[in-house]
Amino acid sequence: ATLYAQQLIDPLDRFLMWTDELQVGAASMARLLGVANVPDDREATPARPSGELLEASDVRYAYRPGRDVLHGVSLTIQPGERLAMVGPSGAGKSTLGRLLAGIHGPRTGSVAVGGVPLVDLPLDDLRGHVALVTQEHHVFKGSVRDNLLIARPDASDQAVLKALEAVDALDWVLGLPSGLEAEVGSGGIAVSPAQAQQLALARLVLADPHTLVLDEATSLIDPRAARHLERSLAAVLEGRTVIAIAHRLYTAHDADRVAVVEDGRITELGPHEELVEEGGSYAALWSSWHGTPTTTPS
Ligand code: ADP
Ligand code: MG
Repeated sequence: ATLYAQQLIDPLDRFLMWTDELQVGAASMARLLGVANVPDDREATPARPSGELLEASDVRYAYRPGRDVLHGVSLTIQPGERLAMVGPSGAGKSTLGRLLAGIHGPRTGSVAVGGVPLVDLPLDDLRGHVALVTQEHHVFKGSVRDNLLIARPDASDQAVLKALEAVDALDWVLGLPSGLEAEVGSGGIAVSPAQAQQLALARLVLADPHTLVLDEATSLIDPRAARHLERSLAAVLEGRTVIAIAHRLYTAHDADRVAVVEDGRITELGPHEELVEEGGSYAALWSSWHGTPTTTPS
């Protein structure tokens, strides 16, 4: 059966969409959720990206007319790279993350993968290239299987089970009264936030995107569950290009490059050590995080 966004989005989600004043409109929402088969307005003849180079060129974006929150951002992410994005709250990190994942289209400029603008890719194709991971868990009303098939409607049970195993969720899912058939979401079996996150990660494993954009909100998950999830997440990140909006220090420190976003612009870009040496915003952020002057830690 084909799943449509309107069937999937439960009242709470609809409320969230509404409070976003439909700035995340139906098509964006569908893209955010990785929902396939949603009619949208893009071209029927899909272009084919050559490679996985992800490139933002002079991207401007506004939620409201005349109020740009990104002011000409250019950024190239190499396949296999780990890029951390840091910067003050409200600087535009999440917005840029959603643009890099093809959830919003830029007002001007472009975000392209392998030379093809993300906005020209059909949703099914887009999801194989880049996807967004947040901690807004979307467990939909339906079976566990339904919840995973959103990512790939034609996936076999074997593939579904493998995806659950990859994120360390197989045991508890098989422990549910009817396993993959168990009804979750509103009116169904209650799943914990950590379990909801695992279902979302398993969905990603099925979609198998080359690049992941991580935007971790402040965690609502207790520390033990968070540690457990970290392992699930690490399994999902393995072998992929990663753009991580870093809320924790080590994420930036471990990245190949750090992009500092301030007031809708990338103001610094380079490896951690280099930026610390430069003594700019990142160095200041690093020392305030770290409580030490601008020296690199061992
Ligand atoms: P960050 O992730 O760095 O904290 P955001 O990308 O969330 O920054 O926000 C950048 C700017 O865009 C802020 O001024 C924020 O208020 C605004 N903004 C973010 N999301 C929305 C939205 N859905 N509608 C209107 N304005 C928004
Ligand atoms: Mg943010």
